[in-house]
Amino acid sequence: MKQPIKKVVIAGGGTAGWMAAALLKKVLQQQIEVELVESDDIGIVGVGEATIPPIQVFNQYLGLDEAEFLRETNATIKLAIKFENWKVPGESYYHTFGAPGTQLGFCPFQHYWLQAKQAGMPQSLWDFDLNYLCAEQGKFNIVKTPNPLYEMPYAYHFDSGLYGKYLRKIAEQAGVVRTEGLIEQVFQHPISGHITALQLKDGRQISGDLFIDCTGLRALLIRKTLGVAFENWSHYLPANSALAVASERFAQTLPYTRSIAHKVGWQWRIPLTHRNGNGLVYSSDYLSDDEAYQTLMGNLDSKPLAEPRKISFQTGRTSQQWCKNVVSLGLSSGFLEPLESTSIHLIQSGIVRLLKMFPHQQISDTVIDYYNADSKQEFETIRDFIILHYHVNQRDDSDFWRDMRHMAIPQRLAEKIALFAESAAIFNDHNDIFRDASWLQVMLGQGIEPRDFHPAAKAVPDAQLLKVLQQIQQAKQQPLAQMLSHDEFLARFTRPS
Ligand SMILES: Cc1cc2nc3c(=O)[nH]c(=O)nc-3n(C[C@H](O)[C@H](O)[C@H](O)COP(=O)(O)OP(=O)(O)OC[C@H]3O[C@@H](n4cnc5c(N)ncnc54)[C@H](O)[C@@H]3O)c2cc1C
Repeated sequence: MKQPIKKVVIAGGGTAGWMAAALLKKVLQQQIEVELVESDDIGIVGVGEATIPPIQVFNQYLGLDEAEFLRETNATIKLAIKFENWKVPGESYYHTFGAPGTQLGFCPFQHYWLQAKQAGMPQSLWDFDLNYLCAEQGKFNIVKTPNPLYEMPYAYHFDSGLYGKYLRKIAEQAGVVRTEGLIEQVFQHPISGHITALQLKDGRQISGDLFIDCTGLRALLIRKTLGVAFENWSHYLPANSALAVASERFAQTLPYTRSIAHKVGWQWRIPLTHRNGNGLVYSSDYLSDDEAYQTLMGNLDSKPLAEPRKISFQTGRTSQQWCKNVVSLGLSSGFLEPLESTSIHLIQSGIVRLLKMFPHQQISDTVIDYYNADSKQEFETIRDFIILHYHVNQRDDSDFWRDMRHMAIPQRLAEKIALFAESAAIFNDHNDIFRDASWLQVMLGQGIEPRDFHPAAKAVPDAQLLKVLQQIQQAKQQPLAQMLSHDEFLARFTRPS
């Protein structure tokens, strides 16, 4: 249908809605009108506190001042996730945003590390990772260097409600119109089925050319109105419940998320400047709500600030994330559970994908098909990475972990695991936001020990290799002396000038 896109209507004002409103208006300016409708009665999901490094690009694009952003959202720095008890109870490993070692020769660092280990070197892979070294010591500072050896990528933990409010201020200043009200009815074109207007409880109608469904788990436009199917992934990722509760902050703020596996499911601990975010993610097929409550409240380590709140969900994705004139972003587009903090990133990449192919004159099937294929691939690669954590476990203390170990997994993931186990090789897949350093850390951390590695690493004489690795390890330690404690960094950096 030939219809120029002059007005975009965003249904929903959670993280997804305000991220979309702010960036669309920033990029397209007076080329489009943007109106956002949200219901104060419904409110937002109110979780989603951990991010991954590309959020920095999003914030920079909006022109946010980093110190102001940290202040406005009670944010802290995230260098990694520490996975505790995932392989077996009592053991832990980090998935950092850094990369271990450095490029040494033909093959990636892990091959040289494996050779050195065989020659007697005791250091773990993580001893060569600056993110890990800082995380362990609770240190941080912004490292600006052209030397890749000292790169230290980071993300944030923040209060998602405050982030939404902050983005709202920016979006409204840029000209986005906010309308408060409950959407009760959705009108469609009788022939094309395109959405033409939203009707609010008080009778007001909001019409538009392109609609963005940011109504969260309700998926009011894409699924309820247009009837797009939900692709259920609970056979891979059976978590369907979360209990979330805030607790008092600790004296020392960790620069990483803790992910603590329990007999069933896992618990997040996310440090903000004013409190800790905590939650237990579990499957109700394996754990009752009462047991979940006991597990969460018995493992808080600081005083709860409220009673836990239950959130129910289903893992999977909306099978067509763009249908007719509706694009779904955020929880309406799917949810993979929060294990690797990828939902806010998926919102970001959805907005960027939409902007790259923004249909100014008309919405074509070509554009829709490309958008859908690209986002499907992105969701699937993240899904596979999350399954990896659950599937490759050695726990024997519950049916949950045994079932995870024995479940059928996607072919691509099975091949990736087999290749690494056989040869220590990892190849980056198109559209996978998790690059080889991430896969490496989780595969090793979960207990896969490669049976072999690249011959190029074996070609280096042991004495020479050990010396080089020792030099790298020393070099990685060097910046630590100039680092501040995480709390000191936050206090200094966010102090208003
Ligand atoms: C347990 C859990 C933990 C999570 N942890 C993380 C994490 O650590 N990191 C991460 O990246 N992501 C995380 N997420 C995901 C993250 O919370 C979401 O991706 C993010 O908050 C975006 O939500 P949303 O904007 O899509 O939905 P919501 O926040 O639910 O917003 C929906 C909006 O739609 C409006 N609305 C709905 N229906 C109507 C109606 N009829 N009329 C008018 N308005 C309506 C609501 O008022 C609201 O404004 C987590 C999710 C869950 C469930």
